[in-house]
Amino acid sequence: MDVLNLPRPSWMSEDLVLLEEQSRRFIASELVPHIERWHEQGMMDRKVWNELGEAGLLCAGIPEQYGGAGGTFAHEAVINREFTLAGLDSLGAPLHSGIVAPYILKYGTEEQKKRWLPKLATGELVGAIAMTEPGTGSDLQGVKTNAKKSGNGYVLNGSKTFITNGQHANLIIVVAKTDPAAGAKGTSLMVVETDGAEGFRRGRKLKKLGMDWADTSELFFEDVKLPAEALLGEREGEGFVQLMQELPQERLIVATGAVGMIEHALALTIDYVKTRQAFGKKIIEFQNTQFVLAECKSEATVARVFLDHCIERHVKGELDTVTASMAKYWLTDELGRIVDRCLQLFGGYGFMDEYPISRIYRDARVMRIYAGTNEIMKLLIARSL
Ligand SMILES: Cc1cc2nc3c(=O)[nH]c(=O)nc-3n(C[C@H](O)[C@H](O)[C@H](O)COP(=O)(O)OP(=O)(O)OC[C@H]3O[C@@H](n4cnc5c(N)ncnc54)[C@H](O)[C@@H]3O)c2cc1C
Repeated sequence: MDVLNLPRPSWMSEDLVLLEEQSRRFIASELVPHIERWHEQGMMDRKVWNELGEAGLLCAGIPEQYGGAGGTFAHEAVINREFTLAGLDSLGAPLHSGIVAPYILKYGTEEQKKRWLPKLATGELVGAIAMTEPGTGSDLQGVKTNAKKSGNGYVLNGSKTFITNGQHANLIIVVAKTDPAAGAKGTSLMVVETDGAEGFRRGRKLKKLGMDWADTSELFFEDVKLPAEALLGEREGEGFVQLMQELPQERLIVATGAVGMIEHALALTIDYVKTRQAFGKKIIEFQNTQFVLAECKSEATVARVFLDHCIERHVKGELDTVTASMAKYWLTDELGRIVDRCLQLFGGYGFMDEYPISRIYRDARVMRIYAGTNEIMKLLIARSL
């Protein structure tokens, strides 16, 4: 499916073309046939994580010495795009591979990397990152969860909400205060291995407007005892800086998903209007349809070119926070604008759950909210004016 027919971007090397083909085949044969069932049960099966690991679709950007595929962010982007082109918007793998694993790779001690990364790559461990709390989301300095020194380790208390992979995750990076009096400088990232962790409890899998089979959940930590090695990195108080440094990649992952969803929506719509008839004509024969889709295709092309520019810069280590924020804000807004017009061309069928366009429409909404709301993105961009 390539509705845009663009030449391959310069960052797309031969091995990435192979990865694209391999991912597309695996997704079509092993994942797509189960989407309806996951949709009905409201969650995918736990074993999918192991299957993704076996197929090499987890931690593609992590060095081979830690169990990954030894690629770069470009590898993550290719896989992520394939997920969304196939309608797997609810899958938490891009967060697991592109956000959780890189935190450990970048800030973990050698011991932490060896302990966790190989298991994240196989799917034995499922990753999550728990920043948001019932009382604070955008303003991460307001986090109340705390990790108090106790003997050689810590005791963790607090609650988190809206956590992606919340039901399946067994390796959770928790944003916590190690020194509540020190503000941002008192924030640390604590890595919690939840298997057998006393005092750790998962709350509800939350019912949502979209992303129906994503296991977004509440998490509770009540006097959870952690060893000293749960602190990510060597020093306390670095959590805020670590978060800020990794956020551009998180934003680019959301932007990549948004563009994949745009292309998926456009492909579905072009197919539909070529078969559906009204007034003795195919819907595509109405000039309005042609104009709407001409606009959507033009905008989607601009979106894709901007995304490719950002991916290329990020792979070179040159993507700044401001540009990443522009990509997240504008591409997710653009997704909303395009999918709305596409859905309209489906008429009543566009409102029916069994039509994937209705799911993309619902799934798209949260992308303007999570990974930093688009208002927060604009604040960051405005600082560069
Ligand atoms: C499906 C889903 C999955 C998620 N996954 C995760 C996850 O895995 N891990 C995680 O930690 N979190 C996750 N989140 C949480 C998400 O990141 C937060 O919801 C988001 O950051 C916004 O925080 P909030 O909900 O507290 O909104 P608030 O911060 O309360 O914001 C409310 C409104 O006020 C606006 N606002 C806030 N501050 C400003 C300001 N300074 N200037 C202008 N406007 C402002 C916001 O833009 C928004 O419109 C997820 C959320 C959802 C819905």
